[in-house]
Formats: sequence, C-alpha cells, structure tokens
Amino acid sequence: MPSKPTAPKQRAGKPKPDALYECERRLQCVVDLASDCYWEQDHNHRFTLLRCRDASESENGPLLLGKTLWELGDTPVNGTWDDHKRTLAAGLPFFDFILRRTDRDAGERYLSLSGQPMFGDDGKLRGYRGLALDITKRERLRLLERTVTDILAQRETFSDALQAAIRTICESEGWEAGQYWRLDDEDDRMRFDVSWSVSRKVIDEITAEARSLALKPGVGLVGTVWATGQPLWVPDLRKETRLARKDVAKRTGWNSALLSPVFCREQVVVLDFNARHIPKPDERLLQILRVLGMQVGHAHERALALEQLRESEERYSSTVELAAIGISHVSMDGRFIHVNHQLCDMLGYTRDELIGRTIQEISHPEDVNATDGTRAQLHSGQINSLKFEKRYRRKDGTTIWVRITSALRRGAAGTPLYDISVVEDISDRKAAEERILYLATHDEMTALPNRATFSELLDHAVESAQRRSRQCAVLFIDLDRFKIINDSLGHEAGDILLKEISSRLGGCLRKSDVVARLGGDEFVVLLDDLEDSMQAVTVARKILASVLEPVQIMGQECRVTVSIGIASYPRDATDGLSLMKLADLAMYGAKEEGKNTFQFYSKERNQISVERLTLEAHLRRALEQNELSIQYQGKIDLRTHTIEGAEALLRWWNHELGTVPPSRFIPIAEDTGLIVPIGKWVLRCACEQNIAWQRQGLPRIVTAVNLSPRQFRDANLLNDIAEVLEETGLAPELLELEITENMIMSNADRAAEIITAVKALGVKFAIDDFGTGYSSLSQLKRFPIDTLKVDRSFIRDIPENVQDQAIAKAIISMGKTLGVAVVAEGVETAAQHAFLRAHACDAVQGFYFGKPCHPDAFARLWNNTAASFPQRRELAQSQQDN
Ligand code: C2E
Ligand code: MG
Ligand code: MG
Repeated sequence: MPSKPTAPKQRAGKPKPDALYECERRLQCVVDLASDCYWEQDHNHRFTLLRCRDASESENGPLLLGKTLWELGDTPVNGTWDDHKRTLAAGLPFFDFILRRTDRDAGERYLSLSGQPMFGDDGKLRGYRGLALDITKRERLRLLERTVTDILAQRETFSDALQAAIRTICESEGWEAGQYWRLDDEDDRMRFDVSWSVSRKVIDEITAEARSLALKPGVGLVGTVWATGQPLWVPDLRKETRLARKDVAKRTGWNSALLSPVFCREQVVVLDFNARHIPKPDERLLQILRVLGMQVGHAHERALALEQLRESEERYSSTVELAAIGISHVSMDGRFIHVNHQLCDMLGYTRDELIGRTIQEISHPEDVNATDGTRAQLHSGQINSLKFEKRYRRKDGTTIWVRITSALRRGAAGTPLYDISVVEDISDRKAAEERILYLATHDEMTALPNRATFSELLDHAVESAQRRSRQCAVLFIDLDRFKIINDSLGHEAGDILLKEISSRLGGCLRKSDVVARLGGDEFVVLLDDLEDSMQAVTVARKILASVLEPVQIMGQECRVTVSIGIASYPRDATDGLSLMKLADLAMYGAKEEGKNTFQFYSKERNQISVERLTLEAHLRRALEQNELSIQYQGKIDLRTHTIEGAEALLRWWNHELGTVPPSRFIPIAEDTGLIVPIGKWVLRCACEQNIAWQRQGLPRIVTAVNLSPRQFRDANLLNDIAEVLEETGLAPELLELEITENMIMSNADRAAEIITAVKALGVKFAIDDFGTGYSSLSQLKRFPIDTLKVDRSFIRDIPENVQDQAIAKAIISMGKTLGVAVVAEGVETAAQHAFLRAHACDAVQGFYFGKPCHPDAFARLWNNTAASFPQRRELAQSQQDN
C-alpha cells in the first residue's frame, strides 16, 4: 500500500448538493489523514460503503460491497470470528480488530479495524461504520521483534541464535546478508563472527575473507558504528569512502548497508546488514534495530553468563571431583545429598550407596554424637564454620580418621539449606600421632609401658590405694645374666630373651597389674589393690619360677634368672617415686643374696646398698691411688711336693674402708666395668712378678691369673694378653688364665673361639671352682683346657662327707680321661691332703700349704723348697698369725 495520500477524487454518479459534497470532502480528509479506509455496514454486517485513501483499494470496493467481513478470507489475529460476531450482535463498538490477509502480489498484510454501531431513531441497530488501517509494516516489525526475541531465547548457543536472528531480520526486510562483528579483547580489534546470506556461495566467500579481517575501532563502517555507538545507513556503498572492503559491493551487488550497534556488557558490537537496496530506515525500523540490538546484547550477556555459570559449575564440579579431599552436602536432617568421588573412595561406598545415608550410619560408634552441639551452633548461626576430627566407619568395617570442615549453606531468604563439608583423610597423621604417643609411653621392643607411663600408673595406684585404704606393691626385676647373653650371643639374642621374659612376666600377673620395661634388662611390676603386701611374695615366686624355664634362643637353650626387689605402699613409702627407688635397692639386696631370688625392702638392706655405693666410689679411684696389691698362693705338685705355680689374688686396702675382700669388691668391679682396667693391671703385675722371681734365681713356675666374665668377653682380651706378654717378656707357657664354667657355657662357641685364640699364644687355661657351674663332661671336651680346679666346697668336708669324696674322686678321674691336670682348691688339712694324694690328684692349693701372701714372702717360702710340708704348714701358720 503506497504511503502517499492521494487527493480525493470525484466519484462517478449524479452530482451531489454542496452540503453533501462538503461532507464527502471532510470524510475523505479524515480518511487521508487518519486512516486507510472508511467503511459502513448494514444491519446484516454487509459492507455498504468503502472509502479508501488508496485509489486502488477504492476500486476494489465494489468487490467487497454486499459481503460480510468474514466472507473476505482474512484471518483474525487478536481474536476469533465468533467473538467478533458476538460483539456485533450485542451492538458493541470494537477497536483494533486485526486481520491477516494474504495477497498474491503484496504477500502478507495486516489490517486493523475499528467500528461503532449505528442506531435508528427507533433504537434498532442500523449497521456499523468504522475505519480500517493497514498495519502491515507495524505488525511485521512487531512480529519480527517477537520472532527474534523467541529465537534468541530458544537457540542453544549464542552464535546459533544470532545467526537465526540475522536471518529472520534479513528475510523479513528482504535483505541479502547480515553479519555480526565483535571486539576481540586480546588485541582490541573488531572481528567478524557470524553471518547469514541468501546466497551460500557468496557467504562462504565473504566469510573466509571477513575472517582474516581485524578492524580497528573507528576504522571502516563497522569500526565507525563501534566507535559512535549509533546506527549507520549507507544507501550507496559505491560512494562510501570508509569501506574497509572496497570491492565487496562490486562483487556481491549489495549496494547498501545498515549497521546497528549492539550493547553488550558495556561493549558495542555491530550488526551489519547488506542488500541491493536498503531504503532509508524510518525511525520505527531504527527503533526496532535498537531494541533488537539490545535484545541481542541481552541474549549475548545471558549466553555469556550462562557460559560462565556452566564453566564455573564445571570448574566447581571438576574441582570437587579432582580434589584430593572428600566433599559432601548434607541435608539438615543429616543425610548425604551430594558426595564427590573422593569421599566415596575414602568410605568405600559407591555414590548411590552413600546418597541418602545418614552421617550417623557411617560414624564410628564412639563418635556418633560427637559434634551434635557444635552443629547446632552452626545451624543457629552462632558460628560460621566448624572444624572437627572424628572417626568414620568404612563399608568394610575399618575405621578412618577424618578432619571435617563444615559450613552452612543458606537460601536467599536465609533459610538453612544444607551443610557443605570438606572431609580430609587424616588416618595417616592420626596413626603417626598414635605411634608417637605409643613410643612416648611404651617400650618399642617389648610393647610394654615405659618408665614414664609406669610412673603415672603407679601414682594413680597409690592415690587409689590411699583413698580405699588398700595396699600396692612395686616389684623391681633385673635379669641376672643378661649381660653375658647379650654380649656373647649378640643383641639379637638379647632382644629375643627380653621379649620372652616380658611375655612371661605378663603371664604371672592379673589383668589389673602392670608390667613395664624401664630399659636394658630392668622390668618393673605394679601390683595394684592388695589386701596384704605378702601377696607380692606369691607373684614374685611365680615370676622366679616362670623365668627359670629354659629359653630357646637361636637354637640354643639358655637359662636365666632374675633378682626381684619389692617395696610396698604404705609400709615402705607413700609415693610412687620412692616406692620405685626402694624396690630398686631391694633388688640389689636380692642380687647380693645370690641372685635368682626376691627381697623385700628393708632399712638395713638400704644401708648395705649405701655401703655398696661407697665401695664403688672408692673402687673407682683404687688403681690410681695405689690401693690395690696382689698376693700369691702356691700350687703344690703332689708328686714332687714342689711349688709348681702361684695364683695371683687381688687385694684392696683403702684408708677409709680398710681391707676389702675380693668377694665384696670383685662383683662391683664386674658390674661397673672397672674390672677391665683392674684385670689388665693384675695381669701385667703377675707377669712382671714372675719375671722378677726368675731374676731372683727362683725356678720357673706358672702364674695363674683369674679372669672375670666381663674381661673374658672383652674384645681386646687377646690383644691385651699378647701385649703384656710381649712387654714383660714372660714366656706364654708360664701364664695360666682361670675362668669359670659359666663363663664358657653361656656362649660355648664364642668361648671356644676365645680360648683357642689365646691358647695359640701359648697361654694355658684352667677352669676355676669346677663343679659349681652348669658344665658337663661332654661339653668340656670341646675346650682345650689344661687344668681343672676342684672347688673348695667339695674339699671342705673331706674325708667326713662321702658324697664329696665321691665327687672329688670323679672329678679327678674325669681329668685323667680328658688329659687335664686336676688341682684341688682350699686344702686345709692333712687328711684332705692325704685323700687327694691317695686318689692321684695332680696338685693342691690351700691354707694347709700356705695362705696367699706378699710376693717377697712367697719367694721366701719358695726358697725353702727342701723343707717338708709340715714345715711349710708351720710357715703358713706363722703368716696367718701375723
Ligand atoms: P678363687 O680364684 O677360687 O681363689 C681362691 C680363693 O680361695 C682365694 O680367696 C683364696 O684366698 C681362698 N683360699 C685358698 N686356700 C684356701 C683354704 O684353704 N681355705 C679357705 N677358706 N680359702 C682358701 P680370695 O683371695 O678371697 O679370692 C676370692 C675370689 O676372688 C677368687 O676365687 C677369685 O674368684 C676372685 N679373685 C681374686 N683375685 C682376682 C683377680 O685378680 N681377678 C679376678 N677376676 N678375680 C679375682
Ligand atoms: Mg682362682
Ligand atoms: Mg677357686
């Protein structure tokens, strides 16, 4: 429909009077100015008059006259024919009733009709009159706007939507192509993004070309629109100087362009339409483009926001899934509503198994309600977040320690939605902590509590005994021969022994009692809740018996004993520390009693121990203070009745303590290790003395030196002996070393090694105190021994004691069988001498022939070789008297 109003025309027919003509002109003027058509209908709603602005419409008029509106083939857009007919039947006016008409030539058109009823003087409806307006342009733009909006909202991706919108606009306006340009943040250039064209071939070509373009803002048409933010209409591109692609118009035939900015996040991007001819856009089209631009912008923003949301969601979910920690959402009633993969792994459940389960269900029974209080605080808003450690139970029943950090997620109105929790597996750390705690409180090797733990438990026991008027006792236990086993069989053997003993100790106790290892071979037992401290005796006996059972260590059967000291509350002390100290002192008492026994603490014992400490202190300085000396006791050959050897016996005289017998100080020297330097000193003195006697012209005799267990185990023994022999110049065969059976039996292999090595120097070996130890004849055969010294205890009661006689005789004949010399110790009487001679004992030693004496006195005794025994005995007697 042409937009230009046409002049009213003289209609054919008879001429009208002036008034009527004036009326006609007025109507035509109204039609021209306000509407496209004026119409009238009769009471049957058939058109009776049609007056149009457009002459052609008026010419169509006769075709419509006599027809109703619904007979014209139009389609109502904003209502139905029934509605319309009802309005007419009711004689009501109607406004903007829109009809769509499809014209073969002009395509789709839209008409808006408004009408008012006409009534006769009798009040009856005479018909209707009204106006018709061609609203095709308005309606098309409105539809376009709506379509583009729908498209933008419906398409999945922004570029899809944009392409569809561009297409719709182009199709609706009859334009050939449309493009979309956006600013690339990276280099601040406008880049071609999406396009559509009627011609696929052209668009492919243009697209390829456009893609290589990067326009500076302000450059080219696109750049200009970008820079000004204003739409730009270019009716003739061929005259346009700002064109970036000058030949595009020539190649495509698109001679005009309309560019419109799109505002998107404070950025301007540009829609660029091209066509052979784009008429000057009216304000309405520009407005539509602006609105469209805004919609595109919004759609773009929405798409970006959605993209960002999706990205952030993806980032979140991949973070959640990739995180090495468990993450969960827990509903307000304590059920898992979301769990990540790690949490599932951590707990051993699948996601499906975990979702819907309550926290309680997977909590360790002891930790089920552990955090109820603080959770309530979190939910009530008193605290913002919550951190705690607890135990969960995995699906397989094992326990896992976790550290949980929780926060509450609230809805927009502040209503609590769910807890978000980060769950960290801290089992390793907990295990390490437990291990550290365990190590701090236990002895690792035996798994028994250590001293610190024991002290604590003891303090509690004392307190509780105090409250309940009960008693408790501490048993201090020390292994008697541990050092020998440890040094000779090695630490591994020592460890096995300690473990075995610790388990045996445990076996002797009630559940409520405690056994701990204080270190080394020291154990301590707490007997709790005793009625009577004598109950401790029962336990001590049990322990002694249990320990005495042989222990298999590395294929060898070993026997150990323990010494036990007992102190009890409240009799001996009223605090834990003192009880331990007193039990320790009592243990020394048990050692002094001959080991393998127990002793209660007593004040007298305490004094003995104090004395022992005094001895020890003095003994440490004895060597340097020259308080030690050596006496010699002769060994008489029973065949020749001559002195064949001398035993070096150590003596200690201290200005404060006076003479201290070896039986008192040798064990202390042994325990403290002082025996090693002292023993070396004895060895050197004895060798020097032998040489001195030889220089005095006395015959060559063998000097016997006693070795203690500690010396015998000493790694330097062989070197020390070789060194002393070398330095003193004593012939090795004039030196004999005395060791005891126990020393060799505790580790027979090692002993055999040492003896063989020392013997290789030429030195002799004697077994001292024979008969008191644990050796057997068959075992002795293994050792290259030269002499057996029968212990004094077997000689003492000879000849009265028949049993002792038998033993002595047996030992003598055994010596013969083994090819070793037998020496009887402690011979004090003529009868003993006679007995031994009669049974062919090789040699004797004892007061009957001479007490140990100073080397000079010994030399004098020796000089008297021609003298008979009684004379010697007299000499011995006189020495004793002195
Ligand atoms: P032993 O090696 O068996 O020495 C013999 C002990 O018997 C000596 O005691 C000696 O005085 C004593 N005795 C000798 N004849 C008689 C007798 O007829 N009647 C009685 N009643 N006793 C007699 P002593 O000197 O007191 O030594 C005791 C132990 O001390 C020794 O026993 C030895 O085992 C140890 N001992 C002594 N000196 C040393 C030493 O230098 N080093 C080491 N490791 N031990 C030593
Ligand atoms: Mg001896
Ligand atoms: Mg002896």
